[in-house]
Amino acid sequence: MTHRPLPRAVRQAMPLARQVAEEVAKQYGVCIRPVPLKRLDTHTGTWEIVDVPCGATLDATCPPCAKRNRQLRMAQCREGWHLDQEPAITPDQPNDEQRWLIEFRADLQAHRDQAAWLGEDTSDWDAAIEGIDAEINEAGMRGNVLGRTAPKRNRSTRRRQDAPDLPKRKMTATTLGRTFTSSDGKVYRPSLFVTLTLPSYGKIRDGVPVDPDTYDYAAAARDALHFSKLVDRFVQNLRRVAGYDVQYFATVEPQKRLAPHLHMAIRGTLPRAEIKQIAAATYHQVWWPAVDRVVFDGDHLPIWDDGIGYLDPATGEVLPTWDEALDQLDADKAAEPLHVLRFGVQVDVQGVLAGTPDADQCIRYLSKYLTKSLGDSLDSDNPAQREHAGRLAEALRFEPCSPTCVNWLRYGIQPKGAKPGMAPGRCRGKAHKPDHLGYAGRRVLVSRKWSNKTLAEHKQDRRTWVLEALGQTDQPPPDPHRYVWKPVPAGDANVAPLAVRLLRTVAERQRWRAHMAQLQAQADGQDLSATEDLGRAA
Ligand SMILES: [Zn+2]
Ligand SMILES: [Zn+2]
Repeated sequence: MTHRPLPRAVRQAMPLARQVAEEVAKQYGVCIRPVPLKRLDTHTGTWEIVDVPCGATLDATCPPCAKRNRQLRMAQCREGWHLDQEPAITPDQPNDEQRWLIEFRADLQAHRDQAAWLGEDTSDWDAAIEGIDAEINEAGMRGNVLGRTAPKRNRSTRRRQDAPDLPKRKMTATTLGRTFTSSDGKVYRPSLFVTLTLPSYGKIRDGVPVDPDTYDYAAAARDALHFSKLVDRFVQNLRRVAGYDVQYFATVEPQKRLAPHLHMAIRGTLPRAEIKQIAAATYHQVWWPAVDRVVFDGDHLPIWDDGIGYLDPATGEVLPTWDEALDQLDADKAAEPLHVLRFGVQVDVQGVLAGTPDADQCIRYLSKYLTKSLGDSLDSDNPAQREHAGRLAEALRFEPCSPTCVNWLRYGIQPKGAKPGMAPGRCRGKAHKPDHLGYAGRRVLVSRKWSNKTLAEHKQDRRTWVLEALGQTDQPPPDPHRYVWKPVPAGDANVAPLAVRLLRTVAERQRWRAHMAQLQAQADGQDLSATEDLGRAA
């Protein structure tokens, strides 16, 4: 078969076709950025290319996947909040799917690192890696595959972050909160909804500083960069005071002034005054080298020497490595932490009872902005807000975001894992991107013993529930070892154009819905919304 070039009019119509296909896919809740994968069916011995959903969490990437993820998060939040029985945590052996995902993740990382090394744009790889990380967690593995890459350094005791002066209850081995029984014998299981905010950096009106020149952008930038550490400290202190293994489901959301803040559903209850006391006493010290003296700037930048590292171009002196810089810091008795974080005085504590409209409202509130990036809180039609965002981005530009940040070169230190081609101000870390406003951590923070379930298990719950509603529970469970998955190399000729693949999936979804409607009619008198629900769960 020979391919003639397509007529010009048809070629011009193609992007349009893709747009239309995307719109249709969105209407049907079908992923608009599917990842093609090769799948071997071990029962039949045939390979085929299968589209799997991208699993994005943001509307800007894929609205159908983002919506599905938000619904799963809400289910996860609801399920764990008021548990009345201790969750049993037993990690399973990794299965084939999990092992494959890890291999695939390693593959993507290699591609990404190569692109970064060649100085190419890595945002596509980063997006793919983010998607796979979400899949990995959904497949029932907790945490990040990279995990802790180096052993923790031993800080001198002087630098150890002491427990703040707070009451301390005797620890009991439970994750459940106290219950209260009323005089008529009814048992109440009260929980908490807490909102924690960062301090003031200067007076704000309508989301922008009244005086931008005195607004403390440096502090705002550092607070955002290390915010998740401060949250960790809060949880540690909370558990110490509460005297039980407090569980939480929290989301990090943007405020109009472009600072992150935290909403936290807490299982069990403490007096409001104690929560406020804990928030006030919680702090985090950042023991990083000082960045108050700019050593290299503009054209005056350190140079790379293979096998040696970065040198001062004028003196030929090798710059201290990250580890050496930390050792110097340890040895310096007069050293101060680079930054100390604390919460602001605005702490909101609300008591919530299981199963009340209040609880539902809090869950909606918690998940309200999950499909938006932090930067979406910015009102870009408002010039004052745009300028405010610009100033914050400028403050973040040369601020080191992590031990591997290229910005350390500006302050005369080789970043951890230094390699050629690094230049200050050009860090590709998420924290520097306008969408992140300095915060590169997770948007959803869930403690390990919250609902005792992974997102994948919550997904499975929804399917099971609908199948039960339809009376379809007697099917044999699927064979978990049936398929072997492989990545598809970029530009593989067997992958159809995106518009075609989207419409194909929509057609499948339509067939499937019709089939479900048929089952529905047979099941007679069942709740019609159940098929819709299964459509989303699939
Ligand atoms: Zn998607
Ligand atoms: Zn950085």
